[in-house]
Amino acid sequence: MRRKCRVPGRNYCAPGGKIAAILVDLDGTLVKCQKHFDSAKRRYQKLMNMCGLNGRAVRKLAQKIELEHIEKHGFQRQALAISMAKAYRQACREAGKKPENWIVETCRDIGDRPFFQKPELFKDAAQVLTRVHHNFFIIAVTIGDRDAQQYKIKQAGLRAIFDDVIVTQYDNKSEMVAAAIKAHGISPEYSLFIGNSRRSDGQCLNNTHFLHLPLEGWVFDHAELPLDTKFSSTSARNWREAEEKGINDVYRQRQTALDSEELEGEKRRGCHDSQKQS
Ligand SMILES: [Mg+2]
Repeated sequence: MRRKCRVPGRNYCAPGGKIAAILVDLDGTLVKCQKHFDSAKRRYQKLMNMCGLNGRAVRKLAQKIELEHIEKHGFQRQALAISMAKAYRQACREAGKKPENWIVETCRDIGDRPFFQKPELFKDAAQVLTRVHHNFFIIAVTIGDRDAQQYKIKQAGLRAIFDDVIVTQYDNKSEMVAAAIKAHGISPEYSLFIGNSRRSDGQCLNNTHFLHLPLEGWVFDHAELPLDTKFSSTSARNWREAEEKGINDVYRQRQTALDSEELEGEKRRGCHDSQKQS
């Protein structure tokens, strides 16, 4: 079935009646977020020190509890706040102190804060995506809490840019992308996934081409990319380079493929017409 891929101001038609898509991660790729988490963790450590605890150790404990929480329940917005409060209580117990309610509440406030910051986009990201919008179907693929991620997209002014938004609570982007490719009739050969994490985004190299854009990262983002897939991977240092090196490349390849598809069609029609005439 031929997909509707030509609308006023946009043409994302790909060969074989399919469409071409740019799939893009949100946190650390389009939206700056690391600084908000770093600042929350610094404030938490300071608060723990003020409570007479070993701030650094309690901060590490909170991180351990957070990872366990994510493993058990998936990515939930409350995970950081819950872990900070839990780590404080545990550290108090171990130190023979009585936890104070107002400090538990402050821990929760600090852990919630990063999710209510006005999202700030990386340099050139909005301009590049606005240009890309003319030639590609655009899908946001993000891990996290559904409401928090949708709120962030709206606040960042990106709602009109995305044709679809996929929010997953688990580290399973490759699975989600495979389903989206099927559902939208996307041609993986002429599409591209852009993300900052080699671990969670890099898995999508199994599904389509991959552009690594490491604008932010943390220790768990390092991983080997899948080997022997039929797609290619590249990397860029900023959004301008991502456009020049990755996006324009898949666009050009698609144009060439569409031209030869059209030529083939013309040839076939020519044959058909001359058969009719003879
Ligand atoms: Mg990311």
